[in-house]
Amino acid sequence: MTKNIIVCPHCESPNIKRALNPNEVAVCAKCGKVLYKYESNIELKIFSLVLSGVIFFIIAMFFPIIKINIIGYEDSFRIFNAILFLFNKGYIIISLFVLFSVFLFPFICAVAYFMSSFLLLVKFNKSFVKKLLILITIMKDWCFLDIFFIAILVSLIKMFSYADIIFDIGFIAYILFLSIMFYIVKIIGVHSLWEIYEKNM
Ligand SMILES: [Zn+2]
Repeated sequence: MTKNIIVCPHCESPNIKRALNPNEVAVCAKCGKVLYKYESNIELKIFSLVLSGVIFFIIAMFFPIIKINIIGYEDSFRIFNAILFLFNKGYIIISLFVLFSVFLFPFICAVAYFMSSFLLLVKFNKSFVKKLLILITIMKDWCFLDIFFIAILVSLIKMFSYADIIFDIGFIAYILFLSIMFYIVKIIGVHSLWEIYEKNM
């Protein structure tokens, strides 16, 4: 199985991956550079990151993302207002895209991560954790469609720069949520959860 082979990023020679003891470091058999380290309590690290991500996500949903201030006129938009506004104006496809990419997919990813890392931490309900991990593995690339939406939003706001539009608390919270999820899913990687699953369950 290729799963237990790790390719050295320095000299590209394959090494067999093995479980490490606390504070042990795995080095490449050919060039001697560090391959990977023993990570203690990575399930706790993932869980606390996801927890803070979920808190930022809730703030992002309930606080205004942008504030518009044109002389004599002030308004602020929450994500759900914006979705409803687009829907009522007839932009049904766009409103559904925003609903799925900004709310639904990231929400499912965050909740699945939250529940699986918590259950891995307390070592409970193996079969349910497996279902959650399969869901995360399938969903992981759908969680970041919102990056496109944010890019579009930022460029729209730059375009209408005559109006006084500022990014509000909700937007900042959303960016923090997105950064945390990106770090967990893309940098730490879903495979870490699978490894904990095999080790702990
Ligand atoms: Zn090497």
